[in-house]
This record gives sequence, structure tokens and C-alpha cells, in this order.
Amino acid sequence: MLRFLSYNIVFQEVPGEVSLAINISNCPNGCKGCHSPYLQEDKGDILDESVIDALLVKYGDAVTCICFMGGDADPQTVERLSLYIRKSTDSQLKTAWYSGKARLQGNCSIANFDYLKLGPYVESLGGLDSSTTNQHFYRIIAGELVDESFLFQKKKGHEAHFVESI
Ligand code: SF4
Repeated sequence: MLRFLSYNIVFQEVPGEVSLAINISNCPNGCKGCHSPYLQEDKGDILDESVIDALLVKYGDAVTCICFMGGDADPQTVERLSLYIRKSTDSQLKTAWYSGKARLQGNCSIANFDYLKLGPYVESLGGLDSSTTNQHFYRIIAGELVDESFLFQKKKGHEAHFVESI
């Protein structure tokens, strides 16, 4: 079971997409220096198909992607909801998953997402916008991971790639 604390429309998390980011609680990763420690607590409303339905009615026409922020305590449910969004929208909406794991857990398939961010937060290495980061942002094309982490480091000489992707 997943619980979520909030959601918001964001532009940076998935380059080239307007995303509805759902902030999922009960994060099991315990990263030192966690940017959102409140997400480690097991609280919030249950995130299931009925909540997704309500969000799609309200925001489905305003966004191009649904982004799961967390959910590592129950990866199968994240995958199930990603597939539900695809089915409900005839794959018109993309799905993204920000996971703190280095690899997908729970026998989930990368093919069931359009974007994946993988890797825990390591304070000394920095987040996706750091050139030393351990984290990766992938676009999934034909079931393969394509590393597009450079899109987050546009200030370090990759701005052209970022603009082209939009
Ligand atoms: S994965 Fe994110 S929310 Fe979870 S402990 Fe690490 S930094 Fe915090």
C-alpha cells in the first residue's frame, strides 16, 4: 500500500514534460542529509486507482506526465498505478518514477514507465544537478534505459541538449 502527502505541478523533474508530481511517504531509504525527511514518515492518504482517477479528472488535461516521487516501500503498487495511468489515458500521459534505489526493485519492469530516476541521495556527491552525482535520470525507449542525466546539468555546458529536448 502507498500513501501520499501532497501533489503539485512541476516542470523541472521530467525535462520536456509538465508533470503532476505525487509525493509518496514511508520512504525506506534513510539517506543522510535527506532533502524531504517528512517523506520518511508513514502517513498521508492511501494512493490507489480511485485517487488516480480523481487526479486525472482534475489535472489530466493540464499535464503531460504523472511522476511518482518515492514509493520504494511498495514498488509493485507504483508499477501497477503506472500501468493503470497508461490504460486510462490510452498512453496519452507519460509516467515517471523517482526512486531512491540504485536498481528497480520488486521485479518491476522498466518498460512500464517512460522515465526513471534511480539512485539514493548521497550528500557528498549531490543530486541530479551535480556533476559528481551517483543518481541517474533515464528515458525509456523501446524497453531500454537511455541516460539523460545531462539534462539536469545544463549549467555545466549542456544547455543545448536541454533546449533541443523541449
Ligand atoms: S530517497 Fe529521497 S526521500 Fe527517501 S530518504 Fe533518500 S533523499 Fe529522503
